[in-house]
Amino acid sequence: MKRICPECGEEFTGRSDKKFCSAPCRAGHHNRARAEEQAFQRSINNILRHNRNVLAELNPDGKANVRRDRMIDRGFKFRYFTNEYTSRSGILYHFCYDYGYRVEEGEWVLLIKRKEYVE
Ligand SMILES: [Zn+2]
Repeated sequence: MKRICPECGEEFTGRSDKKFCSAPCRAGHHNRARAEEQAFQRSINNILRHNRNVLAELNPDGKANVRRDRMIDRGFKFRYFTNEYTSRSGILYHFCYDYGYRVEEGEWVLLIKRKEYVE
């Protein structure tokens, strides 16, 4: 039974569970898949680290009120955060590692630092 190697595009024959023409093609395929996974994780990590650094820059004293636009201007991405925290009074905070924020009404965002709200 003839098949096409997904790595090099060559036709090959062999056992039906054989996916690649050769060991180098199999290794190359898996190496590339792993490299792509790592690149994806790295890009997410970079976004999270950047978000955290924007929060730290805008919040040097551990608590601050800033406009949403100021964060966005610095490349902050609201869709990326490391964890959520809900206070006893039911207020939801998002965190990027040790820096957190709460989106308030209108244009304002309250910035906090982790130790103040989480043991
Ligand atoms: Zn091949």
